[in-house]
Amino acid sequence: MTALLETRGLTAFYGDFQALFGVDIRVEASETIAIIGANGAGKTTLMRAISGVLKSAADTITCRGEAIGALTAPDILSRGVAMVPEGRRLFPSLTVEENLLVGAYGKRRGVWTLDSVYTLFPILKERRNNPATALSGGQQQMVAIGRALMANPDVLLCDEISLGLAPVVVRDIYAAFPRIRASGASIVIVEQDIGQALKVASRVYCMMEGRITLSGRPDELSRENIHTAYFGAV
Ligand code: ATP
Repeated sequence: MTALLETRGLTAFYGDFQALFGVDIRVEASETIAIIGANGAGKTTLMRAISGVLKSAADTITCRGEAIGALTAPDILSRGVAMVPEGRRLFPSLTVEENLLVGAYGKRRGVWTLDSVYTLFPILKERRNNPATALSGGQQQMVAIGRALMANPDVLLCDEISLGLAPVVVRDIYAAFPRIRASGASIVIVEQDIGQALKVASRVYCMMEGRITLSGRPDELSRENIHTAYFGAV
């Protein structure tokens, strides 16, 4: 069956430096997958390649069977792949509501509107007229997720959304995920916290040095397997 999103033999370079070596991942409709791996494993590079920030060979990334690897980031977004970037990258001079509205500039329409994002994260409605940067880190992360949802994506790429946040805040953010999936979107999370990844994902890919070293359902993976795939054999 054709996957919603698939990479096949995906490579990526920063100048002469090769960061990805033939990465194969598959995302089906309405599932959550997690990409885990140590610092520098290539997780962010994989997200950048899929979202079109880094150009790839056309047929190494497909969306519903259509080659999208060579498309620009706005074209990939219009195909339904949206990214919540590492570090959130909100517009500091805009309010919460204006940041959310920026996400809706494309043509895709669906369940995600200002109202439904405010229902998902009620605190954002309270703070809607505040500058986005006046919010706490967790609330800013909610804005970043809400902004991506406003594009009504079929695939939501989330790069390290729990980085630097208190566990209780991380829990609140992940509590929104079942509702995002229920809206029909698949979710790809990049997570350094392996426990968190295993809890929310139906399938996990582990990366090391630009390659997928392990993949499977959380219940199929042992701690030893994950440790070896994460750090290499000792
Ligand atoms: P982290 O958890 O630290 O974000 P990561 O798994 O996301 O790690 P990447 O950021 O994708 O890893 O980095 C993969 C490799 O590419 C690393 O060796 C990194 O040093 C290198 N790299 C990343 N960005 C650049 C860049 N802009 N220019 C050159 N090399 C880069």
